Amino acid sequence: MLQTLHSIIQEVNAARGLQHALNIIVKRVADSTHVDVCSVYLVDQDTQEFVLMATRGLNPDSVGHVRLRFDEGLVGLVGERKEPLNLEDAESHPRFRYFPETGEEKFHSFLGAPIIHFRRLLGVLVVQQAARRRFGEEEVAFIVTMAAQLSGAIAHSEASGGETSGGLPTPLPLTRRALQGVPGAPGVAFGRAMVAYSPADLFAVPDRPVEDVESEVAAFRAALQAVRAEVQDLADRLADAIPSDEHMMFDVYLKMLDSESLVDGTEQRIREGNWACGALRDSIAQHVSVFDEMEDPYLRERASDIRDVGRRILMRLQMDSGDTRDVPEGTILVGEEISASQLAEIPTERLHGVVTARGSGNSHVAILARALNIPAVMGVAELPVGRLENRDLIADGYSGRVHIDPDKQVRKEYHRLVREDAELSQELQVLRDEPAQTPCGFRMGLYANTGLMADITSSLASGCDGIGLHRTEFPFMVRERFPGEDEQTVVYRQVLEPFAPRPVVLRTLDVGGDKPLPYFPVREENPFLGWRGIRLTLDHPEIFLTQLRAMLRANADCGNLRILLPMVSRVQEVDEARVLLDRARAELEEEGVEISMPSIGVMVEVPSAVYQADSIARRVDFLSIGSNDLTQYLLAVDRNNARVAGLYDELHPAVLQAVRQVVEAGVRNDCHVSVCGAMAGDPASAILLLGLGVEGLSMSVSSLLRVKWVIRSFTRQQAAALLEEALTLENPADVRRRLNRALEEAGLGGLVRAGK
Ligand code: PEP
Ligand code: MG
Repeated sequence: MLQTLHSIIQEVNAARGLQHALNIIVKRVADSTHVDVCSVYLVDQDTQEFVLMATRGLNPDSVGHVRLRFDEGLVGLVGERKEPLNLEDAESHPRFRYFPETGEEKFHSFLGAPIIHFRRLLGVLVVQQAARRRFGEEEVAFIVTMAAQLSGAIAHSEASGGETSGGLPTPLPLTRRALQGVPGAPGVAFGRAMVAYSPADLFAVPDRPVEDVESEVAAFRAALQAVRAEVQDLADRLADAIPSDEHMMFDVYLKMLDSESLVDGTEQRIREGNWACGALRDSIAQHVSVFDEMEDPYLRERASDIRDVGRRILMRLQMDSGDTRDVPEGTILVGEEISASQLAEIPTERLHGVVTARGSGNSHVAILARALNIPAVMGVAELPVGRLENRDLIADGYSGRVHIDPDKQVRKEYHRLVREDAELSQELQVLRDEPAQTPCGFRMGLYANTGLMADITSSLASGCDGIGLHRTEFPFMVRERFPGEDEQTVVYRQVLEPFAPRPVVLRTLDVGGDKPLPYFPVREENPFLGWRGIRLTLDHPEIFLTQLRAMLRANADCGNLRILLPMVSRVQEVDEARVLLDRARAELEEEGVEISMPSIGVMVEVPSAVYQADSIARRVDFLSIGSNDLTQYLLAVDRNNARVAGLYDELHPAVLQAVRQVVEAGVRNDCHVSVCGAMAGDPASAILLLGLGVEGLSMSVSSLLRVKWVIRSFTRQQAAALLEEALTLENPADVRRRLNRALEEAGLGGLVRAGK
């Protein structure tokens, strides 16, 4: 059963659009379950109806014509109840509705399962049979599993515009086309998609319309010919070296290269309008799915040979065409994964945005996008990359949403948001040199979060009180080895010097988790609970000591260094880190370097550190709450997983309680407490943090003036009253609403409307 499910899903995923996918579904389900009828009804949000979209067994002419209201018929009942319905005698059910055009009077038994994607009802999968019988448990389980699996493929296909014409997608006026990813770089990008794919990555090749069909067919034939010669050459060279049985492998390759379905199939697809690379991708995908489905493991293995043949032909095609692409103005670069170098190849003045199916805010490309001020959305798991070339996109780097072919209304709304956002930023410039002081006279420290040299420049111009968090990972990520002590010293001095005497918090290396190093791969089942941050550096004192020595040396002339330890989950880690810091100091002093000892702090970002905040606070000079990880670990929500992005909320009462506990521990132990996660840069959260008694907020520079406006608008007493109210609420959304109302009432509605 698993094998059948798997092969159907593979075929559906390789389909050329929604209609093609649905036709595959009904055919394959009907064949494999031996039922008389299989049909798919999809929801049409515009008319609030179910539409028969594909069928095997009912009258094919009724497709697209049979429509049921949501409260109508057995299909409507399955949709309403959101559970399967298994009937022996469908006509006798009070909700049965008869459609003469379908010819379904012959079929008595009915089994329907809802197709649901992230709680959203997409449609209903139905099987029917002439005989009067209840479907067995196995059959029900199969149909339910099928419907659950198909929901992703259907949503994916829907998002990419569904219908096909001539092998290329054209938009279908169906439902929602917004996909959720995670923010990569702030800003909103409007533009057209250009798909980035690695040479010879066959399944990342996008569709692209072709103008000169004959020359495209000729290019394909030439590539085939070249690969044939290449394989023959390989075979000849190895003829004496390997046994004849193994040698037959090459015959298989050559046969594949001559097979009708590959040659004619690809040519046919080119003639339908797709370019050779895209046509080849589809032929190979179809071939692969046939072999993947085979029971015989040897034959199943053939699928990988076919993939290999496909890659070889693709490489030839790319060599011949040179695949040079003009980059039009307003390009949004789209890909499964995009490397920093692929991004760097695009002229920045033409690049409006970046969208990827994989990766997170810590991917190289996101970091680079931030440095270049280009909005980016990462980790859009359902991004239909192959079908996006040249499509209109809006990439919202604040919320992590991507809109494909946005309608006029969405476009208008985004243009308004962007305009208001720009106007507000302009207006707030007057606050640049004003202190972040409440009307009651409390001075909140406002600091910048940095990680790149570009951030340093913008932070210097922002009027901040210093750097509250400098992430030191970047110089480690861009090299092909660990940076040496001298290299690091230079980098850290470049951060410390321009700010002196204002404080600069350098965080020790926080790799692992979602921040991998290419030259130090750590493969773990569960990297966020694995070897990351201080755990890794304490296990590698040679790496840690090098970094500490470099920090201390850089500070020798500056004197404004503070050191911050990430991912602390037990007090021993603080003690051990202090021992190593003392050792680094002693060594340097022995070497004649004059050291001024920096203050040392701990990031509170793991729940255990919240509960041990008193013990930790006694050991260090400051605590910095890392609300990004703290929220992730408290709520058990992966901060980079778009599927659960809706559950990630730093205004969750549990997070607020945790922050309160840490602040109270700070007060008890005379230890400075600040916040350096994204929460600090959120105007609504900033009110609560002020009310909680946090002494410093560190954020991305773009949020600084907004938060300053908040601090200058609320007294501590007002903020504390709002905090008390918020702490009685049980729902993060209610907390957000209450704070937004407070912002509106205080005349700061612009911060709410700007949507950040
Ligand atoms: C945090 O976890 O809140 C934080 C600031 O650190 P990072 O985002 O680098 O993990
Ligand atoms: Mg963190």
